[in-house]
Amino acid sequence: MRIGVFGGTFDPPHTGHVAVAEDARAHLDLDRVLLVPAHVSPFKTGESGITDPELRLRMTKAAVHGIPGLSVDRIELDREPPSFTVDTLRGLRKRTPDAELLLLLGADQWASFARWKDPEEIARLAEIVVMAREGTDPAGIDPGFEPGSEVPWSPLDVRRVDVSSTEVRQRVREGRSIEDLVPAAVARLIEENELYRAASAANTA
Ligand code: ATP
Repeated sequence: MRIGVFGGTFDPPHTGHVAVAEDARAHLDLDRVLLVPAHVSPFKTGESGITDPELRLRMTKAAVHGIPGLSVDRIELDREPPSFTVDTLRGLRKRTPDAELLLLLGADQWASFARWKDPEEIARLAEIVVMAREGTDPAGIDPGFEPGSEVPWSPLDVRRVDVSSTEVRQRVREGRSIEDLVPAAVARLIEENELYRAASAANTA
């Protein structure tokens, strides 16, 4: 089994997330890609107003519903926040000891990777794959390692979909359509739960 692990805040999940997860699955010959909503990302804990984790989980499930090989895993929601990737990979390794794990990151996340908890342990637990985002070639990014402490990684070219959750939240706040930015089922959940209408720290980030 080759399993892709794709973590994020998913507030909300959008078409970019779905597209790159599908591309990673196809190009890396993965049996499954797990989208893993963070309990609250360690880099976003300073913000208030991140959507309730269970609702982000529901939206993420709705985003991948019916897409072969893509599923959502609540492993981080069942642990106390903050969600550290190294702990998630340890948990997944324990659950599926024989699986090969591949950690899928967007290029923006790679830019701060040296500051993550235990990067070397992460690299022992999973193969690190960095996906191009919004035209940024991962090869041009400096993850910030001290000389000699670099970890192995490989770049992956994926479809370019210039969407971010920030843009989705902003459009909702401005009363504009998000039809082309999120799967229809996600748009329905946003509407039903009246998400992102008021400006908050997270909404303006
Ligand atoms: P925000 O705008 O709130 O920062 P985001 O759109 O970056 O959110 P996250 O949930 O933080 O979404 O991202 C989860 C993962 O998906 C990260 O690894 C991120 O780099 C990657 N990602 C998000 N959007 C894209 C995209 N359009 N193309 C490629 N990778 C993406």
